[in-house]
Amino acid sequence: MRQCRGRARRDGDRMNVQSTRGGIEVTLSEAIAQGLAPDGGLFMPPLLKPHPGAWSDTFHQRTIELLKPLFKSDPLLPHLTAMIDEAFTFDAPTTWLSSNTGLLELFHGPTSAFKDFGARFLAAALARIVPTDAITTVLVATSGDTGAAVASAFHNRPQFRLVILYPDQLVSARQAHQLGAFGGNVRAFRVAGTFDDCQNMVKSVLTDQVLVARHRLTSANSISLGRLLPQMAYYAHAALNCVADLGQPPSFVIPTGNLGNAFACLLARERGLPIDRVMLATNNNRALVTLAQTGVYEPTATVPTLANAMDVGAPSNVERLLHRFQDVQRTVLADSVDDAAIQSCIQRTFTEHGEIICPHTACAMEVLHRLRAQGDQGRWIVAATAHAAKFDSIVEPLIGQHIPVPPQLAALLAQPSHSEPLPAQLGALVDCLQ
Ligand SMILES: *Cc1c(COP(=O)(O)O)cnc(C)c1O
Repeated sequence: MRQCRGRARRDGDRMNVQSTRGGIEVTLSEAIAQGLAPDGGLFMPPLLKPHPGAWSDTFHQRTIELLKPLFKSDPLLPHLTAMIDEAFTFDAPTTWLSSNTGLLELFHGPTSAFKDFGARFLAAALARIVPTDAITTVLVATSGDTGAAVASAFHNRPQFRLVILYPDQLVSARQAHQLGAFGGNVRAFRVAGTFDDCQNMVKSVLTDQVLVARHRLTSANSISLGRLLPQMAYYAHAALNCVADLGQPPSFVIPTGNLGNAFACLLARERGLPIDRVMLATNNNRALVTLAQTGVYEPTATVPTLANAMDVGAPSNVERLLHRFQDVQRTVLADSVDDAAIQSCIQRTFTEHGEIICPHTACAMEVLHRLRAQGDQGRWIVAATAHAAKFDSIVEPLIGQHIPVPPQLAALLAQPSHSEPLPAQLGALVDCLQ
């Protein structure tokens, strides 16, 4: 039984989502259900026309107004308000460290990172798309934050079981504890290998049509439009608040790995939101910086850094960026930050503002610091992508004090945690799915 898979007519109104590789055209709910396009490309949302008239005042209403045109005549449209109610149960406030530097706090969700917004919206959408009389298996490979956000979003949803793969010993102790703390319909496997091994195992299983059909397999990785699109909402909200309170559109500086978060900001600007410049802040994985500065894209091998959720050598959303915006150098700015600068920025931000930031947020803060040193007086908002308490082992020695743990994270860390060992072999994963 399909809850809301209406008969899709093949007309311009409904089939408005295309693959970056050209051939495929589907509805938005089909794109959300499929994740990756069958031609190997990424699904692109339709070009967004500027919002007519005034925006509402609340985060919730603004999110509805922003996403509604994307779900126009889609079977999920009647469910959109309920989906946002379910997913966006926490706020995204901007705190101002000075009159022209804001911090957009994206870490108030259940796993204390911005990925909660996208993961929860995806879960709310998939719950209304997949059959209700069978179990769908969601597979995730994670290097840290993704797995926890997805696990939390699908936990206790009886239509789903979740299988998480993470590299043993290569995530922080608190991240590992979080991943194993859900239990119930969530199984966490610590793989004897790297993140790439985990991702390759997941990819191999997901491209095996027999296995996909047998176990009703789907993925929840960051290329899903179900995760990307809702992320526009907090940029819209922060930008509109900034204009209302301070009379001027902000620019954003965004810690960036796979480019999912920052791409949502570009889409919000395309929709006519008052957003000035968009600056990507990477760690020592510099492919996006080279692209934004020279127009040439060359993926690199991944290098490990203190901002490990951004350790990406070949950002998957580059394919979307190049597809949508021909002139990348005019679309985004970018700069990179090495580990030493991450550390000094965490210390400086604490000393100067009393603000404790995570290593990812520090990349963005450092990039802004450099702009200021060059005389930039603009109004900038730094996206704070995770709570520093998730990275206590890095941050606490730098600031010389204990980081208060937010209640939602403390609750998860107080749960017992259980993970299962798994060799980095495809056959081992396939056996576990039985
Ligand atoms: C995932 C993540 C990022 C990178 O976001 P992308 O969408 O991959 O660019 C940055 N910071 C934190 C804390 C993350 O978990």
